[in-house]
Amino acid sequence: MTPRIVFVLGTRPEIVKLAPIIRACDRAAVDYSVVHTGQHYSERLDGVFFDDLELPTPEYNLEVGSGDHAAQTGEMVTRLGEVFKRESPDVVIVQGDTNSAFAGGIVASKRDTSLAHVEAGLRSFNREMPEELNRVLVDHAAEHLFAPTDEAADRLRTEAIPEDRIEVTGNTVVDAVNQHVRLAREKSDVLADLDLQGAPFALLTAHRPGNVDEPERFQGLLDGVAQYANDRGHRVVYPIHPRSRERIDDFDLDVPDAIDCVEPLNFLDFLRLESEAAVVFTDSGGVQEETCVLGTPCVTIRESTERPETVTVGSNVLADPTPGSIADAAAEVKRGPSDWEAPFGDGHAAERILGTLGVDVPAVSGEATV
Ligand code: UDP
Repeated sequence: MTPRIVFVLGTRPEIVKLAPIIRACDRAAVDYSVVHTGQHYSERLDGVFFDDLELPTPEYNLEVGSGDHAAQTGEMVTRLGEVFKRESPDVVIVQGDTNSAFAGGIVASKRDTSLAHVEAGLRSFNREMPEELNRVLVDHAAEHLFAPTDEAADRLRTEAIPEDRIEVTGNTVVDAVNQHVRLAREKSDVLADLDLQGAPFALLTAHRPGNVDEPERFQGLLDGVAQYANDRGHRVVYPIHPRSRERIDDFDLDVPDAIDCVEPLNFLDFLRLESEAAVVFTDSGGVQEETCVLGTPCVTIRESTERPETVTVGSNVLADPTPGSIADAAAEVKRGPSDWEAPFGDGHAAERILGTLGVDVPAVSGEATV
């Protein structure tokens, strides 16, 4: 019997990475519901993604909003308890490392419900990042741990997680990129809209508290990226997350002329820029993986990464938020060969994940690959 599935999601990267599994559920005629916690709900950060990724509107939107971690998580736990009671799922699927994943995980694991964690086994080994605690706690509560790589599976084994819970599936980010890259080339006008055709440009995303909550660090990051761009005559496009915009205003930071701040982009436009950029500067998790899949060099402005595979293959170099470190990292990543093999699987992670849960997914034809 095919299981009844509930997906819990609440942020942009969860929508992107769960979309291939949700669409595979449609192909396999699985009975499922989507619960949006509202952790980050806004039309630009979430709403447009449901259209772009051809997803159904979630059955539930809990509208918890952002705020204090404890209050936000507590509210989600209470509300998800009610939803799971009503829906009686056999399996709850959560993805990644957000408070939504943690809340969904903790409520599911206290019921007679299987908890499945997509993107299990990632570790930054930096417990100061709230995401790290969420990852560890969800991994240890889950019955199905879908590790994107062998390295991630090995990390779970070193934490004494039983072997029969672990499955290496690849990362659904590859499924998402493969399924949308051609559409992005066909449908996105972002290069013309931003006047970037024929001109080399860099792309920047930065919104992690470690980078934007301290004025000196955030200014160093902006100056470093601008200096790199000025040295090469590149423009920099910065689709700016609302929390970073707020910090720039609050701290009265100076955004150098080389950097064009634009509103957060929909997935197709962003994917188009990621695939065409000379280099991407980021502190995002998903962007490190997507650039690796797309063949675009990436500089990650963080002390550590939970995606070390990208550094090993040479698609990604870490930097501090200072001009010298950013320049060195950009030079290093551009110096290396750009024909690395992305280590995140073959783009069929969604089918593998559902297969482990007892669902047979019919194949689709005509998918583009990068
Ligand atoms: N993204 C997007 N538009 C933007 C910036 C990012 O579509 O303007 C996508 C990006 O392709 C990736 C995801 O959002 O799939 C990453 O989101 P975010 O950086 O918020 O989260 P993280 O991956 O760091 O958890």
